[in-house]
Amino acid sequence: MHKIDMDLVEMTLDVMKYTIDRISNVTPELGSPKKEEELFELVGETITPKGIGGEVAFKMFKDILVKATVPIDHPRHLAFVPAAPSRAAIMFDLVTAASSIHGAYWMEGAGGIFCENQAMKWLVSLTGLPKGSFGVFTSGGTAANLSALVTARETWRSKNPENKNLKSLLLTSNGAHSSVKAMAKVMDADVEIIDCPDENLQGHALQSAITKLKGEDRKRLFAVVATGGTTNAGIIDELDTIADVCQKEDLWLHVDCAYGGGALAAPSVRHLFNGIERADSITIDPHKWLFSPYDCGAVIYKNIELAKEAHSQKGSYLEIFKDEGAQGFNPADYQIQLTRRVRGMPLWFSLAMHGTDKYRESIERGITLAKIAGEKIESRENLELVRPPSLSVVLFRRKGWSPSEYRDWTYKNHKEGLALVTPTKWRKGDDYETISRFCFINPETTEEDIDIILDSME
Ligand SMILES: *Cc1c(COP(=O)(O)O)cnc(C)c1O
Repeated sequence: MHKIDMDLVEMTLDVMKYTIDRISNVTPELGSPKKEEELFELVGETITPKGIGGEVAFKMFKDILVKATVPIDHPRHLAFVPAAPSRAAIMFDLVTAASSIHGAYWMEGAGGIFCENQAMKWLVSLTGLPKGSFGVFTSGGTAANLSALVTARETWRSKNPENKNLKSLLLTSNGAHSSVKAMAKVMDADVEIIDCPDENLQGHALQSAITKLKGEDRKRLFAVVATGGTTNAGIIDELDTIADVCQKEDLWLHVDCAYGGGALAAPSVRHLFNGIERADSITIDPHKWLFSPYDCGAVIYKNIELAKEAHSQKGSYLEIFKDEGAQGFNPADYQIQLTRRVRGMPLWFSLAMHGTDKYRESIERGITLAKIAGEKIESRENLELVRPPSLSVVLFRRKGWSPSEYRDWTYKNHKEGLALVTPTKWRKGDDYETISRFCFINPETTEEDIDIILDSME
């Protein structure tokens, strides 16, 4: 299987050609899903005892299967949180795979983990956390949130033997990402949501929620999850006043910046994150706004030793990794995964190649595009902003449209390969209104792209 033969050389050239074509194509075809039966009809059974051959399988992928995917880096893909991995990062993702590096322990992965840690050092510096803070790359924000919250709970349990018998409880707000609730379920922890009118949590609301807790619930409370850039609206919780409350109440503060974390590098909005330097843990997704390919998240701890106590796996066959001779940083000790790809390497290469200034500029561009889109929306008769753009998110309304008109418009644009812009909801009185939403990540999105989309709402 691994013998180098001419077929393999040809295959490699084909793959490289595809990759180069794909990453130099700034407007890849905006594919859309098909039913599984339809795809099966088109390609047939692909796994057979003798194999169908690389050429046939690759052709199927290029001609049929990839067209049933939506390229997240299309400049008019402004739905959810899109992504725009840099070309350098994508190429280095291939190198990461080809190098077969085990990223769990320094003993095997030192050179690769060194690269990751260089990139991590820059990320940590953006947060302003004190000396001794550090982090690791994870598969994404969900895994980072879980790793951080497990650490928070273990730390809380270790403080008081009674806590071990309590079902733990965490507090967050209605702006928090769905993964916070989902991971609380994995941990068998309860979640109480603080309902904030503008999806913006502030210290006073947190304090009053804590004060209102019943005595037995207050005892179960181990952490607060604030958001540094809500996924829906780009809103940053008031981190400084939240940190005051957490300090006073002796609670772990986790700040989820999976989407917004890139903006820590943007001078124009950095002040909005003031207080983040007081967090106990932080999530940042390089695969969202730091131009990494999927998948790459990061979890950062103020005291990384606490993460080790929570996550370090023990096993007789693992002991060698922790030997004197293997001394170094072991990423497996600080998050939920053991065997891991050195998934921070593409980010490292891209940062090393371009420099951090280029990153700052590219992130600022997303924020600028949101402002420009806001102005364009306000200048049109049939459109209006629902709230001012925040980070790179714009919430706006097409006057007079019903929820089904937003939906039909989304599908029509997608089908025509024009754009992917999906609706969302925003509170209106006691109810929720369906509206439209842009999220800018790709610095190659142009003003003309915005015009094209807005024109289609006439
Ligand atoms: C996207 C997101 C997550 C989840 O991250 P994944 O990488 O998709 O697992 C968590 N929190 C916030 C705020 C997010 O935007």
